[in-house]
Amino acid sequence: TKRVYLLNEGNKDMKMLLGGKGANLCEMAKLALPVPPAFIITTETCLEYFSEGTGNLPKALNYEAELKTLEDDTGKTFGDPKNPLLVSVRSGAPASMPGMMDTVLNLGLNDEIVQGIIDTTGNERFAYDTYRRFLNMYSDVVMDMDKEPFEEVLDRIKARKGVKLDLEMDAEDWKEVVGEFKKLNPNVPTDPREQLRGAVLAVFRSWNNDRAIRYRSYNGIPDEWGTAVSVQAMAYGNMNDGCGTGVAFSRNPSTGENKFFGEFLPNAAGEDVVAGIRTPQPLEEMAEKWPEVYSELFSYQEKLEKYYGDMQDIEFTVENGRLYMLQCRNGKRTAKAAVKIAVDMVKEGTLTETDALLRIPANQMDFFLHPTLDPKAKKTLIGEGLPASPGAATGKIVFTPDDAEAMANVGEDVILVRKETTPEDIHGMKSAQGVLTALGGMTSHAAVVARGMGRCCVSGCTAAEVNFSAKTLTLGDVVLKEHDVITIDGSTGEVYLGAVDRRSATEDVDFQTVLGWADSMRKLKVFTNADTPEQAATARGLGAQGVGLCRSEHMFFEPERISAMRAMIVSESKEERLEHLATLSKFQRKDIEEILTEMDGLPVTIRLLDPPLHEFLPHSEDEMKALADTVGKPLSVVKDRVAQLQEVNPMLGFRGCRLSVVYPEITEMQAKAVAAGAAMCKKAGRNPKAEIMVPVVSTARELRLIVPRIQKAVAEELEEAGVKVEIPIGTMMELPRACQTADDIVATEGVEFMSFGTNDLTQSVWGFSRDDAIKFIGRYSEQGLLDFDPFARVDEKGVGGLIRTALDKARAQQPDTKVGICGEHGGEPDSVQFFHSLDFDYVSCSPFRVPIARIAAGQAAA
Ligand code: PEP
Ligand code: MG
Repeated sequence: TKRVYLLNEGNKDMKMLLGGKGANLCEMAKLALPVPPAFIITTETCLEYFSEGTGNLPKALNYEAELKTLEDDTGKTFGDPKNPLLVSVRSGAPASMPGMMDTVLNLGLNDEIVQGIIDTTGNERFAYDTYRRFLNMYSDVVMDMDKEPFEEVLDRIKARKGVKLDLEMDAEDWKEVVGEFKKLNPNVPTDPREQLRGAVLAVFRSWNNDRAIRYRSYNGIPDEWGTAVSVQAMAYGNMNDGCGTGVAFSRNPSTGENKFFGEFLPNAAGEDVVAGIRTPQPLEEMAEKWPEVYSELFSYQEKLEKYYGDMQDIEFTVENGRLYMLQCRNGKRTAKAAVKIAVDMVKEGTLTETDALLRIPANQMDFFLHPTLDPKAKKTLIGEGLPASPGAATGKIVFTPDDAEAMANVGEDVILVRKETTPEDIHGMKSAQGVLTALGGMTSHAAVVARGMGRCCVSGCTAAEVNFSAKTLTLGDVVLKEHDVITIDGSTGEVYLGAVDRRSATEDVDFQTVLGWADSMRKLKVFTNADTPEQAATARGLGAQGVGLCRSEHMFFEPERISAMRAMIVSESKEERLEHLATLSKFQRKDIEEILTEMDGLPVTIRLLDPPLHEFLPHSEDEMKALADTVGKPLSVVKDRVAQLQEVNPMLGFRGCRLSVVYPEITEMQAKAVAAGAAMCKKAGRNPKAEIMVPVVSTARELRLIVPRIQKAVAEELEEAGVKVEIPIGTMMELPRACQTADDIVATEGVEFMSFGTNDLTQSVWGFSRDDAIKFIGRYSEQGLLDFDPFARVDEKGVGGLIRTALDKARAQQPDTKVGICGEHGGEPDSVQFFHSLDFDYVSCSPFRVPIARIAAGQAAA
């Protein structure tokens, strides 16, 4: 097995073996760009290290020959004080994991060699600066020592000298720092080869540090890949004022604008840019200072972007006026930039529409659905942090997740303010409009979770002082108390006092272009789950082609209606029940007419009452008393009824079509309401396309009982109204038994479609309660038992396998049965891809996921 590659032995397609960084270094070298000589140890060697488990380098790993080549190419010798070669040792996984793994720079130094650097460069300050960097990094990364004591030394010496910046330190100062660092850690090996072994081992180990493991689980990167290690001759940006280092993007990674963009730090090492010790200059200033270096860099970025056909992120160093390319990769970008770059590249003729569509991160497209701040709005900036999750939100500040939830429950918009967030904050983050944290970077818990939830978030607002006990947030001179209003912009990281006007970003022309491509390619229709006319209108505006699920019970949760619902439930006779059903019927008819009106000409699937009845009933003594008074019954009757409906396991209890079996009059009322709503629309000259769907079916016999009842009710109502409309009837597929007997189900007279309810199906296939699994699913992920939450993304093997079985049986029986899905998975890109592959007719998802589903469906078909 070949374990070590020189740059001329690899290429860009070898990411799995050489890591993304290594593969691209090879490719840049192939393109004759100035890359410092390097060799790369493969990811397989890293796996070998883990499987041997000795804590030493794999026995068969030998890089002496390649190290010799590095020496020949640079004309320097590793470990030779007279003409020393120093190297960097960097991690590089097949997928980018920015900042998660380890790196050691300036390796190959000891007391004797540092003298060699002084002799060869004549630059004592540089030599000691480099040495102290090495001692610091090696102690931290390889020997796992705390960073603080090292920082304290630096701070102390700077304070004594009365200086702030590294640049103000002279040779003597760095020499003193080196002396102090050696006291802190006298055990850094002096043998360069031993240093190199230590660093390679540290990089291997860093594949399995907590950060890296967490990052992989958030980003779906397999643990089995391993990291490559690149060992590269150092190029120095910190020798003198003729040196520098920078990061550049071939287009603006934030806006997507087609303009070379970057930052540059003169007389500094690469890690200084990342650490944010000094503020870098825009590249334009480098262009003025070193026009030739700039134009060389400019030509390389053009060449690389053309070659890779994608926006490039480039790291470079200038050593004594000579440009070195240290890294290139496809640049990370915001959702907005991703869309603009894709559209521009099609216009430029670099990409086909299909390839451009496939580049769009469908999951991030909810950026365009979140409001952004109106650029013309008046605003008072009070703080700045990191743009952790896009969108803008206004709300009252609260300091605990429980407060956030409580306020949200009474309809208040809140911003959750925390020092940093932990998994215990999730419910508060869900309830809040936005999240502001004082600590934490772009990959902090707050940032990652907020992005996942589509909540806007500003993290790392370091100027924010959060006083938890006093419940105050201080930003400069501004002291805010609990419930004061702020606005945060997660796209810029800015924090404003009070409310700021917002506007929707859905009209973005480029976003519309991308949606257009997707629509022209996709085979799946995209429906929405909408319970109200407002939701239906929103979804239609976002491109929904119908309502795949209208949860009719949601119509009964509103305050004026719930009392009629409760009265109906505590009825003691059928007559009494019918009387209250008549009240409910009025509401239901009107709601259905309105939704059909919003969705005129498009299918609207109304589902019969689903939840267990006790969900509607009050449980406190006071509320039960109030109900008893309203319906004019003794409290004991209400109490008995509540007790009678109480269930130990309600999700598997008296719900769904089981309610229809026991109370046919409820189903009859609902079926008539649907028919009446459709009839009213028809009479008004519209084109209603109502459908009725039966939930939680487990046997075809349930349908054989219920469907004729629906048909009869619908026919009676239409007869009475004197209009003719088709109202197809279908079934939900939410239980394993329904899937296993799908042939019987579709063979049932009058059943014309099936819609997979993957929320309940996931619950019943896994045996995970959809309401309680959140309590342990996190622990499952952490311990590698789950690659993802099966309630968010469809589990193709288990749940998906059952869906396949159902489809095979149903299609064998009735080839043209219409098939859809209306669980949460209908708006999740990977799941959409799966449903496309199974030839579904439609996916149905919540209104704000409609554009994401459109794009994902387009990508699936592209
Ligand atoms: C489902 O179970 O997937 C579904 C859509 O129904 P609900 O979420 O209302 O149970
Ligand atoms: Mg369900």
